[in-house]
Amino acid sequence: MASETPPKSDKAAAGKRGRALLATERAVGLILETTSDLVALLDTAGVRLYNNPSYRALFGERDLIGTDSFREIHPEDRERVRGLFRATVATGIGQRTRYRFVLDDGSVRHIESQGNVVRDGEGRVAQVVVIARDITEHIESEQALQEANRQLRGTVRELEQRNHENALLGNVGDMLQMCKTVAESNGVLAHYVGRLFPGASGSFYHVNPLNNLLEAVVTWGEPAAADDPVIGKEDCWALRRGQLHAVESPGAGLTCQHLARAPSGPTFCAPIAAQGEVLGMLHVRYRAAEGQPPALKESRPETRRLWVQAVSEHLSLALANLKLRETLRMQAVRDSLTGLYNRRHMEHALEREVLRAARNRRTVGLIMLDLDHFKNVNDSYGHEVGDLLLRSVGEFLQANVRAEDIACRYGGEEFVVMLPEATLAMTRTRAEQLWKGIQALTVNVRGELLRPLTTSVGVAAFPEHGRGLPELLRAADAALYAAKRQGRDRVVVADAP
Ligand code: GH3
Ligand code: MG
Ligand code: MG
Repeated sequence: MASETPPKSDKAAAGKRGRALLATERAVGLILETTSDLVALLDTAGVRLYNNPSYRALFGERDLIGTDSFREIHPEDRERVRGLFRATVATGIGQRTRYRFVLDDGSVRHIESQGNVVRDGEGRVAQVVVIARDITEHIESEQALQEANRQLRGTVRELEQRNHENALLGNVGDMLQMCKTVAESNGVLAHYVGRLFPGASGSFYHVNPLNNLLEAVVTWGEPAAADDPVIGKEDCWALRRGQLHAVESPGAGLTCQHLARAPSGPTFCAPIAAQGEVLGMLHVRYRAAEGQPPALKESRPETRRLWVQAVSEHLSLALANLKLRETLRMQAVRDSLTGLYNRRHMEHALEREVLRAARNRRTVGLIMLDLDHFKNVNDSYGHEVGDLLLRSVGEFLQANVRAEDIACRYGGEEFVVMLPEATLAMTRTRAEQLWKGIQALTVNVRGELLRPLTTSVGVAAFPEHGRGLPELLRAADAALYAAKRQGRDRVVVADAP
């Protein structure tokens, strides 16, 4: 039987296996010599029995055999890796892990490794083979990518924020454009300014032209107590120097006097000015970096400074524009000498009032006054004194009409007072009061008290003397003319038409 005689080929096969083994060993040796991976053989205590040449790239020519394989591991990783190694020895199950090597020059390399046990003839774990790879470049590029992503997210967030703020700033500009008065603009500013600086606190100041002090018209954020509600121009470096004053971090620049408390973060003051005239000041205060929302923490100080600058310039322009419009409108409706309404404005107002009165079955009173012999005043005292008298009559009328009445300078030394909802009788009474009041005006010229100023006054009313503007004015004028004819210094009510 073929099985009883050993095959002839057995010896040959053993020889073949031996040669194959030899070849494999040589191949393995070659692989170990040439691979860029790190290969180490450790005993069960983690002492190095063999390291392939790749270790030289990390530790140079230093002989590692017999050294503790955990010694070069980063202290923060060492115990964890040692624990994994022990578990591998105890369970026989290899573990994959990452850790850091600290090289002789102190630099750090990231390593990924896989341990596998080698058992002895009785199946006990005798050694551990570790195959590891330097993944530092990979980790670093991953970290760089993460950082780039974080920065990108920050930039995108900042851009979004900027877009949002720019849109808001546009809104503020539009709203201010629609305001009729500086006072009205304060409401708009109160609504928007804080939103232009999320996460910050601050105040917007207007110059009070009466005392040249700056008054906070809007204060936002927290805590309001850190801002003085009224400040002088000399209390603020921005106002003193006429340019943005930025203190990027506390102590990095001069702190303004108007800050009641020392700031914890960056502060900015920007003058609100146009054509050299200071209109106000914008003050913005940020908290220290720790107290800020993430979006703000990432925004650069330079960005903030530019933004405060941009907002202040925008507001300067808008407010200067508003002031100009206010002045122009004043000039359009007011008489420059007396400050009373002008004839055009009175006629518009009277027309509107008559229409309203007709609709509501109400009355409107009209008083027309003309100073008597005014030419004589000019001739005896000069035109300037005449102007002075006209101005004091203007002030008197303004002070002695109700808020809803309209007192106007109708012509040279002629005045008209329109009294909405006044009856003819009431208008006559008011006319007599004004006539007496003007008589009692005392005007002092260079120490000389001028003779009493007398007036002739005509009175008319809607609906008695006409249903339209021209008839009413004609009736009042006719009554005035009658007063002059009858000897001046009197009040005459218009005849019924
Ligand atoms: P009466 O009305 O009583 O008939 O006499 P009067 O002298 O007031 O007469 P009139 O209405 O003819 O003259 C008005 C004068 O008022 C003429 C002008 O010298 C003067 N007057 C008009 N406007 C001004 C002004 O703005 N300033 C000054 N100083 N005088 C003015
Ligand atoms: Mg006159
Ligand atoms: Mg006149």
